Parts: sequence; C-alpha cells; structure tokens
Amino acid sequence: MSNSLLLRNVRPLEGNCVDVLVTDGVVSRVGPALEAPDVPVVEGHNGILLPGLVDAHTHLDKTHWGQPWHRHSAGPTIQERIADERRVRQRLGYSPAVQSASQVRQSIAMGTTHIRTHVDIDTEIGLANLEGVLATRERFQDALTMQIVAFPQSGLLVRPGTQELMTEAIRLGADLVGGIDPSSMDRDPVRHLDSIFAIADQQGTGVDIHLHEPGMLGAFALELIAERTAALGMRGRVTVSHAFCLGMVDDAYLDHLTGLLVDNRIAIMTHGPGHIEFPPVRCLHEAGVTLCCGSDGIRDSWGPYGNADMLERAMLLGFRSGFRCDEDLELVLDIITRGGAEVMETEDYGITPGCRADLTVVAGETRVEAIMSRTPRIAVIKGGRLVAANGNCLI
Ligand SMILES: [Zn+2]
Repeated sequence: MSNSLLLRNVRPLEGNCVDVLVTDGVVSRVGPALEAPDVPVVEGHNGILLPGLVDAHTHLDKTHWGQPWHRHSAGPTIQERIADERRVRQRLGYSPAVQSASQVRQSIAMGTTHIRTHVDIDTEIGLANLEGVLATRERFQDALTMQIVAFPQSGLLVRPGTQELMTEAIRLGADLVGGIDPSSMDRDPVRHLDSIFAIADQQGTGVDIHLHEPGMLGAFALELIAERTAALGMRGRVTVSHAFCLGMVDDAYLDHLTGLLVDNRIAIMTHGPGHIEFPPVRCLHEAGVTLCCGSDGIRDSWGPYGNADMLERAMLLGFRSGFRCDEDLELVLDIITRGGAEVMETEDYGITPGCRADLTVVAGETRVEAIMSRTPRIAVIKGGRLVAANGNCLI
C-alpha cells in the first residue's frame, strides 16, 4: 500500500482550510490547492486536522470488546477485583491476541495512532497475555504504534518468580517495566520500587507505575519514585499512572511533590476517574509537569465503561476537572495528543512539514466542539496510509 497521499480540505487545529501532501509517510507540504497528480486523494470535508490521538494507558490484554456483555459483580477493592478477574478469565477463556486486536481496531477507527498498553505478568498466566499482545502489535505495526508495559498486576514480591518473568517479558519485547501500589500490594515499598527500577536499569527501559494509593501513602511512594529516578539518571523516562494522591494532599505538600515531578521529569497519567480525587491537571501543567491520558480498562472485568475514543476520554477528563472554558478544554486535547506523544518518546510528532504523517481528521467548528460532539472520524492516517475512514477501521 502506498504511503503517499494528498489530504484535501482540512483545517489544521481549526485554522484555515488547506491541503496536506504526504510523501513516503511524512508530511511534506501544507498549503492551499496543492497539486499531486500521482498520489491517492483523501477528502477531508473541511474537518479539523489533529495529530493522531494517543491512548497512553490501557489494558489491551484484558478487554472483552466485541464479546457478549459481561455482568459485573466484583467487590469494591482492588484486591477483590484482581481475584474476580482471575475467576472471570478462567471461565471465559478469551484469547489475549484476539481481544487485543479487537480493541486496537476500535482505537484506530476512533483516530488513535499510538497506544501504551500495560500487560499482566504473573506466575499463573506467565507470559501468555504478553505473547498475545505482541502478536497484535506485529499484526498492526503499519497501522498503530504500540508500547507495552510489563505489568505485575498481582504484585511482585508476594508472588516469587514474577521478577524473573518481568525480565523475560522485556527480553521478549515489552518496552517498559510496570509496578503497582508498592505499599499496599507488596507491603514493602522500598523493595518493590528497588526491584522494578533495577530491572529497568539493567534492561535500559523506562518505568510506568500504577499508583492508586491515597493521600500520604501515595505521596510517600511518589517521593521514593523520584529518589530512584534521580539516582539512576532516569529523568524523562518515568510515568506515574493515576497518582490519585496528588488530588488529596494539601497545597503545600502538592507544591513539594510537583517540584519533585518537574525536577525529575516524571510524567503523570490521569484518565479522569469517576469516583475519587485525582491530579489537578491545570495546576500541574502550569508547573511544567508532562501529562498524558488513557482509556485504562475498556469493558473488562474491572468495569463496563470505555469505547477507546480518546476524544470522549478528553471530555471526561475535562468534565471531572470542572473545565468549562475553551482554553482549559484545549489543554485536555493537548494532553491526549502532544502530552501522550512526549511520554511515549515519539519523534517527529505533529502536523507540520517534516512530521511523520500520523493524522486524524474530525468534524467540528472548533477543537472543543469536536471533543463535545465526537462525530465519526472522517479520516485516520498512519505513516501516510489511510487506516480508517468515516468511523470504520480499514485494517
Ligand atoms: Zn491501568
């Protein structure tokens, strides 16, 4: 398939209507009435041109997307949900390869060109989920950029053998080392964090840690994470996902934690959770913290929500943040595009000449209207190839 095309009649970030010429997968020219007789033409219908959307936190291996409805009945704690997931997984027996592919096709249809997915690694499932997601990454390699986080969902130290599996996961192709709630999961935050940072240091990867721990417990974990990031020279390579504690501490302590995040270039992922305090997006952005956003679990045993539409996720993050002004909602759009791309260390990201042609076209008078209306994506282009049109994945 050709990776050159002429995208007609689009408005870059709601600006004036132009054409975009893509040559060999790269945006080569942007301007009015471009001529390129030898390449396919994609009509943009005066839609808003955005860089490809970035889902910087999801769980492709666990989704039930495309399967019969699952009736949710798990208890309220994380431990109860992990145990419930184990039972559901055994009962339903879904294939991680089939399920991850199902969500990836939905994500592409919704304009997402980059995904960071966490994949469960534990001593019961071993590397089976990883192998399924690796197969999906290879299958869709021309249509989506995927980073994989080896994720010790059930704990690291409490399940001996998990650390070895995590190292093996990186060797097989996972890109980052994950972690989870170092005090409440493993009940030994120093050893948990030392262990995952050691794997990352040895393997030369970044780290992305699920941190749900509340208040001062979570804040303590953040301090330990910052210490290790500095000690190992990993500035710019560490993400903390959720970090609910940032929405719970007092202003003085928030200032202290924000300083640690900025100094160590630690990024924060928030998806606008529905039931709990969460990081203050505007405040962190103004302090210079890199922010990204993701779907988290989509229709899995953890919950019935989600449809892989990052514009909907942007709306939810804006809604939960109490944003009403366009300027604030434009910030959320920046988080689901540029912020996510920065966290995923994506080079040449954007919509100007020289950028890789990962593009999404969506109807709307303005960017904020596009978030609120969330009409089917007119066109999604990945590396110069049309991969979705009119809301349908073409891959
Ligand atoms: Zn998650």
